[in-house]
Amino acid sequence: MYPPRQMSDGKKKEAYSDRGFGTIAIHAGQEPDPGTGAVVPAISLATTFSQVSPGVKHGTDLPNSFGKGFEYSRTGNPTRGAFERAMAAVEHGQFAVSFASGLAATSAIVHLLETGQHVVIVDDVYGGTQRYFRMVVKPTYDIDFTFVDFNDPSALDAAFQPGRTRLVWLETPTNPTLKVSDVAATAALAKKHGALFVVDNTFLSPYFQNPLDLGADMVVHSVTKYIGGHSDVVGGVVVTNLPKVHEKLRFIQNSVGAVPSPFDAYMALRGLKTLHVRMEAAARNALAIARHLEQHAGVARVLYPGLPSHPQYALAQKQQHGSGAMITFYVRGALHNARRFLETLQVFILAESLGAVESLAESPAIMTHASVPAEVRRTLGIDDTLVRLSVGIESLPDLIEDLDRALEAAGAATA
Ligand SMILES: *Cc1c(COP(=O)(O)O)cnc(C)c1O
Repeated sequence: MYPPRQMSDGKKKEAYSDRGFGTIAIHAGQEPDPGTGAVVPAISLATTFSQVSPGVKHGTDLPNSFGKGFEYSRTGNPTRGAFERAMAAVEHGQFAVSFASGLAATSAIVHLLETGQHVVIVDDVYGGTQRYFRMVVKPTYDIDFTFVDFNDPSALDAAFQPGRTRLVWLETPTNPTLKVSDVAATAALAKKHGALFVVDNTFLSPYFQNPLDLGADMVVHSVTKYIGGHSDVVGGVVVTNLPKVHEKLRFIQNSVGAVPSPFDAYMALRGLKTLHVRMEAAARNALAIARHLEQHAGVARVLYPGLPSHPQYALAQKQQHGSGAMITFYVRGALHNARRFLETLQVFILAESLGAVESLAESPAIMTHASVPAEVRRTLGIDDTLVRLSVGIESLPDLIEDLDRALEAAGAATA
């Protein structure tokens, strides 16, 4: 199916880009090995590659080397190249650059900035991203951040500092309150201010949302979540259509060196192949569970973008291809009721993280978002009774039965 097609505007187009998601996820970057015919990419462990003559590299004709050939594995690795080409294709980008974790990908994007510049960032951004920005980037690089509610247009507009704001950082839906923000409108605003616009698309995965199509300059993923999908690999990736940004990220990837191992790249690629099937199944379970919880007497409120009661339901329907499999809800009562709920669950595992085949439940106030200052948690609505579910692909009746039993125990719990 390779080489890439030439488009009318002279740009090269990935040969798979006209295909359906499942075809792309399974085949892009993963053509049978030209030497052996192996139908899955080799886990290429070599750290160094022989050269034809000094400076002339092997593999320049292989698409997964991006025309550069291979010399040293931090600089370029065949397994990693396969994963990057597959990721670019499923996220509708020309280029993908992968990293050892989602936060390593985030830090590579921050390396695009210079001291004194400014970032506009969504207020309930992932806790680890917030910690990195507040406690590492600000004090070390003197790069300033304004955390703002992207659904408050006047506050968002006021957050920009003319001449200084260089980056806009959005997550939609957010974590853990699943607030949905307008990607296309934010792209226009970022453009007006001459800032690069990045969307963390971890929560929906490329199967349910493609921010580059809506005007984003970069998409970042924690591969650790839906793309890996089995709670067994940590990774990150940035996808872009901008050649200059790609060039810089590639330089940073090699210069900083936070690369995924060949085995990690293989695991991520293996996960990606079933992303569409897992996302369909998990989202189907999630919608049924959200509906069930919404009419349950032990639940005060449910937040799920696929419910008409969600504050940005219409926007979610417009810009997403699906509602995802994350649900946030408030257990009726106080902390001790929520605690009993989480302790009683048997099928849902009490654990941080998300996006895998097994269902997880957690308390953001005590677990994932404990490092967020208490007053910030309050304004974001992260109170003690809030529970976050990452719905997996187990049998639905077992998940519902588990939740019902735990809610009953929560209701009976005394302080
Ligand atoms: C987990 C996560 C990250 C960080 O990714 P790691 O792979 O854990 O470094 C970033 N953003 C979101 C939305 C996440 O869920």
